[in-house]
Order: sequence, then C-alpha cells, then structure tokens
Amino acid sequence: MDKAAQRLFFALWPEDSCRTALAAAMRHVQEKIPARWIKPENLHITLAFLGNVDAGQRGRLASLAGDIQAQAGEFLLDRIEHWRKPQVLCLTPSTAAPMLDQLAADLTIRLKDAGYQLDQRPFRAHLTLARKATSLPEGIRLERPIVWQSTAFVLVESTRNGQGSDYTVLESWPL
Ligand code: ATP
Ligand code: MG
Repeated sequence: MDKAAQRLFFALWPEDSCRTALAAAMRHVQEKIPARWIKPENLHITLAFLGNVDAGQRGRLASLAGDIQAQAGEFLLDRIEHWRKPQVLCLTPSTAAPMLDQLAADLTIRLKDAGYQLDQRPFRAHLTLARKATSLPEGIRLERPIVWQSTAFVLVESTRNGQGSDYTVLESWPL
C-alpha cells in the first residue's frame, strides 16, 4: 500500500440536530441489547466504500463527485433492524428514500466506470448503530422516527485508533 494512501468512503453525514436525535435513539435501546455500539460522532450512512485510495487519485475522485447532480431531500429513518449475517443493528427507512438510492446509484456507476472495485451487493439504505449484535429483542422500537435532511454528501477518511476507527470529513458536495 502506498504510504500516502487513505481509507476512504462516500457518505451522508448527519447535521448536528440529526446526530443528537440519533444518539438519543441509540441511548434508548443501548441498555437493552448487548452489542458493540458505534460512537455517536461516527454515525453516518455509507454511500460507497472505496477502501485504500492513493493520494494522487484524490483530485480525480473529487471531480467525479463534483459532476454528480442529485436532489437534496428528506427521508425518515423509522425502523430498527437486526441483520443476522453481518450481526449489525441498523436504522432503515421503511418507505423508499429515492433521493438516497439515486445518489448511491449515481456514485456507484461513476466510481465503477473510473475503475474502483466496489461492494458487489446492491445498495440498501441503512445507518449502522451497532456491530456484534446477535439479535433484536422482541418489542424494541424507535420512540420516534429520525428525520434526515440531506443537503450534501461527503468524502470521509477512516483511520484506525487502538479501539476502533476515527472518521474525518475531507470534502463535501452540496445537493
Ligand atoms: P472498524 O472497521 O474499525 O470496525 P468501521 O467498519 O466503522 O470500523 P471502516 O471499515 O473504515 O470503519 O468502514 C467505513 C464505512 O464503510 C462503514 O460504514 C463500513 O460499514 C463501510 N464499509 C467498510 N468496508 C466495506 C465494504 N467492503 N463494503 C461496503 N461497505 C464497507
Ligand atoms: Mg470495517
């Protein structure tokens, strides 16, 4: 790996008020479910995970992202789900969020055209709350839906620390 390579992904990053609501929703269910909970400051929706990208490719990536013309919009994260195979707990929209699906699809096509190898699985809009969760106990619900106003998407660098990962937003593109 190039020394200057960075571990990157595109994401939707919650505004402060949304992050506060997400953290509150997480606290509400946290004590009832054993799992490795995501740090509140790390909560996000991944649009496309790139993995290691050489520093020299960053400019090309930024221009690709800048070419995207997607709609700003609002959607609700109103459901908590347990995904058995990856053992994650996540929040999802119970009704389709077309702006989100469209943005992820647009990014994916452009990134694949540019030669990036992305996750083969189809995009499923979700926000991971916790990992290493073996189940979702009966009767656990969100107290109220999380309203997500999406006005930008971002490029994030992920770095390892002793305990897990730290994220840094590197660039942002308005919708
Ligand atoms: P850690 O790996 O330290 O547990 P993390 O998974 O949050 O932390 P990264 O592995 O850097 O940190 O992942 C950043 C984001 O990209 C997360 O939302 C993660 O779920 C997603 N991601 C990571 N690897 C892939 C992959 N191969 N395909 C799709 N999404 C991925
Ligand atoms: Mg990971």
